[in-house]
Amino acid sequence: MLIVMKADATEREVENVVRIVTELGLRAHPLPGAQRTAIGITGNHGAVDATRFETLPGVAEALRVSKPYKLITLDLKPEKTIIRVGDATIGGDELALIAGPCAIESRAQAFAIAEIVRRSGARFFRGGAFKPRTSPYAFQGLGEEGLRILADVREAYGLKIVTEAMDEHGLDLVEKYGDVVQIGARNMQNYSLLRCAGRSRLPILLKRGLSATLDEWLLAAEYIMAEGNYNVILCERGIRTFAQHTRNTLDLAAIPAVRRVSHLPVVMDPSHGTGKNYMVTPLARAGVAVGCDGLIIEVHDQPERALSDGAQALTLEQYEQLVPEVRAIHEVITPAHVA
Ligand code: PEP
Ligand code: MN
Repeated sequence: MLIVMKADATEREVENVVRIVTELGLRAHPLPGAQRTAIGITGNHGAVDATRFETLPGVAEALRVSKPYKLITLDLKPEKTIIRVGDATIGGDELALIAGPCAIESRAQAFAIAEIVRRSGARFFRGGAFKPRTSPYAFQGLGEEGLRILADVREAYGLKIVTEAMDEHGLDLVEKYGDVVQIGARNMQNYSLLRCAGRSRLPILLKRGLSATLDEWLLAAEYIMAEGNYNVILCERGIRTFAQHTRNTLDLAAIPAVRRVSHLPVVMDPSHGTGKNYMVTPLARAGVAVGCDGLIIEVHDQPERALSDGAQALTLEQYEQLVPEVRAIHEVITPAHVA
């Protein structure tokens, strides 16, 4: 169920509704919006009697929710969620740029790339310390040492750190060193990890699973939000199809599809979405053109020597060339998708 408060409802009236919902053994999720606060209710098995809430002071209406999601939906919050990471944002007016190597390989590598990422004006630096590799014999990441390097990059350049947690222990460590927790495609349906992420104080960047439908992906976000973490960024990174000319098939249509049902910001990963260096720039442009809130892009100072995903890494020069292009495209379409 969804309780919509009147536009002039007071904070006390909202608190009162939350208290009553909690006393019933349910969980209340108040999400303040521009016009009014709405309160999503989870934890019920079966229908909740709406009439008992309708008469409470400050309540405009209590609505039964027939859709499978309760918190990601525009019904709860009609305006887009803006995720604030310190003084940077994802989902606001500015196109969010998250760039960096697939994996942190060394201090020298991370700093050489971060230097250019910072110079381009991006606010976020990516890089994995824990890598989910197909082969157990492939480079698995530097672990905590990688996170320490990332923390030093933040210190040196003021960039916000986006990095993956593969399990609960990794999540604790990322909380210690990072700014945004990435949940990778392979873990999109790791429900115990999603619940832990839901109790994190950090925003979560949730990648779409390799074969996840839109509903499965949105319900994974719902897992995180149901635990009380409302700062979720969705990330389209391509899905597996029969196509063999790309590593994955980047689903551009996912962006407007998410937009139609959810207030959550959605970013695009043209690197994993294509797997090929020469496709990253055109698909990055396309992602921005269909209205994504940001791009997460793999960049390497020596792609030919990269320990993971070298084939899809942009060179520093290619990355620097891309940034003004995608900014220009964002500028052109922003008035349309805000309206
Ligand atoms: C990554 O970002 O390097 C990564 C492993 O991504 P995905 O989970 O989308 O494969
Ligand atoms: Mn990668």
